[in-house]
Amino acid sequence: MTHCIRHVYCCIMQFLLIFVRMNSLRQKLFFGYATIVALVVALSLLSLIELKLLEHKIVAGERIAHFFDISLEIRRFEKNFFLYHQDADLTENRTYVRRASAMLREHTEVFAALGNAARVSQLRGDLDRYTSLMDQYAATPTAGDNGTAGGIRKIGKEIVTIAEDWAKAERKALQAQLDRHRLILLGSVSFIGLAVIAIGGLLARRVLRPLKEMERKMKEVASGHLAKLEMSSDEREIESLTRAFNHVLHELETHQRQLLHSEKLAALGTLLSGVAHELNNPLSNIATSTQILAEEAGGEDKTGEAAEFRRELITQIDEETWRARRIVRSLLDYARDRDFHRETLPLASLVEDTLRLIRRQIPGSIAVAVEIPEGLEASGDRQRLQQVLLNLVRNAADAMQDGGEVRITARLTHEVCVAQPPDRLVFGHCSSEAAAVEIEVRDNGCGIASATLPRIFDPFFTTKDVGKGMGLGLFIVFEIIEEHGGCIAVESKPGCGTSFTIRLPLEKS
Ligand code: ADP
Repeated sequence: MTHCIRHVYCCIMQFLLIFVRMNSLRQKLFFGYATIVALVVALSLLSLIELKLLEHKIVAGERIAHFFDISLEIRRFEKNFFLYHQDADLTENRTYVRRASAMLREHTEVFAALGNAARVSQLRGDLDRYTSLMDQYAATPTAGDNGTAGGIRKIGKEIVTIAEDWAKAERKALQAQLDRHRLILLGSVSFIGLAVIAIGGLLARRVLRPLKEMERKMKEVASGHLAKLEMSSDEREIESLTRAFNHVLHELETHQRQLLHSEKLAALGTLLSGVAHELNNPLSNIATSTQILAEEAGGEDKTGEAAEFRRELITQIDEETWRARRIVRSLLDYARDRDFHRETLPLASLVEDTLRLIRRQIPGSIAVAVEIPEGLEASGDRQRLQQVLLNLVRNAADAMQDGGEVRITARLTHEVCVAQPPDRLVFGHCSSEAAAVEIEVRDNGCGIASATLPRIFDPFFTTKDVGKGMGLGLFIVFEIIEEHGGCIAVESKPGCGTSFTIRLPLEKS
C-alpha cells in the first residue's frame, strides 16, 4: 500500500514538473485538458470493471441461492416420503438430488470460490451417499426405522447446512464487493475533483496571471506611463503577443511622427508661400532699380577709382538680388500646389528628356551613363519625377568637381521593401506593394560623411558654399517620392561616391 502511495506521489510530482516546465500556454491548456480527460476515462474504465465483477457476483449469488432452495426441496420431499411413503415424493426427492449434483458438477468454480474445493467434493460425496441411502430406504420403506432414515436425515441436514453457509458467505462477499465499489467510486471522484481543482489553479496561475499582467501593462502604456510593453514571462504566446504589440506601437508612433511632420511642412509651405510672395515684388523693384542705377553710373563717368568702386557695388547688389529672387522662386515652386497627375511613363524616355534639360549644366569631365531596360515603365507624375531626377543628377555632378561618372539604372522588383544593407539608410515608408520600380542614381564623387547622412533630406540643410546650395533639393525629392507612395534609400562612402535608390510602387497604394 505504501509502495502504491509513493508511486502515485511520484507520478503527481512528475506531472507538476512537466507542467511547470512547459513554455507555451497552448501546451499547458492542452496538457491540463488531456489530464482531466485521461482521469475521467480511467475512472469510467475502473467503474466498468467493478460493475462487471459485481455482475459476476450477482450471477454466482443467484446460483448459490438456487442451490440452497434445491437443498430445502430435497429435505421437504424426504420428510413427505418418510411420512406418507408415496412414490411421487421419492421421485421429486431424487429429481432435486440429481439437480443439486448437476449444479455442483457444472459450477464447481462458483462453489469452490466460496469455501475450499475439498468441501465441494465432500458435498458431492454426501449427495452420493444420500442417494444410495434413499434407495436402500425406498426398497423397504415400511420396515420401521432401521437406522437408514437417521443416516438420511443426518446427511440431508449437512447438505442444507453447507448450502446455507454458502448462501450466507455469498451475501457477505456481495456486500463487501459493493462496499469496495462505493469506496473506489468515492475515492476516484474525490481524486478527480482535487485534480481538477489543482489543474484549474495551475492554469489560472500560469495562464491567467500573465494575461492579467499584460492587460495591466497595456493600460499603463495607453496612459503614457510606459513607453513600451515589457513582459518577464517566458511563455511563447505572451512573448509573441508582446512583440506584436510593441511592433504596432512602433508603427503607430512612426505614423504619428510622419503626420506631425507633414502637418508642420504644410504649415511651413503656407508660410513660405506668403513670405515669398511678399519678397518677390520688392526684390523685383530692387533688381530693376539697380539695373537703372548701373546704366546711369556707366553713362556718367567711365573713369576714376570712385566710379569703379560704385560700379562694383552696384554689380554686387544686382547679383545678390538675383540670387534672392532665385531662392524666392524655388520657394514658390515648392509651395505651389500643382495637381498631382499620375500616368504610366516609359522610364528610358523620361530619363533621356530630363538629361536633355540639364546636360548643359554638367561639365564635360563628367560622364552620364544610362542603363534602363527597354519597355520598363514607372507610374507617377511626369513633372515631379523629372524634378527628382534633375535634383539627384545635379547633386551628383556637384559632388564630382574633378570629373567622374553618374550612372542611372532601373529595374522592376517584386521585393516588398528596398534592400537595406547595413550602410544604407531608408527614408519614407516603403509601400507594401510587391511590384515596384527601383531607380538608382550613383556617382563616384566625394561621398557624404556618415554624421551628415541622416540630415541630408532636412529642409535647408546644405554643405555647399554660400550661393551654391539652398538645401531644398533633396527635401523636395523626398516630398515627391512620399507623394508617390514610395521611399528613397541612400548609401554613401566618403571619397568613393554616393548612391540614391528610389522605389516607386507601380500602383499607388
Ligand atoms: P543643396 O544641393 O542645395 O545643398 P540638397 O538638399 O540637394 O541641397 O542636398 C543637401 C546636401 O546633401 C548637399 O549639400 C550635400 O552635402 C549632400 N548631397 C546630396 N547629394 C549628394 C551627392 N550625390 N554626393 C555628395 N553629397 C551629396
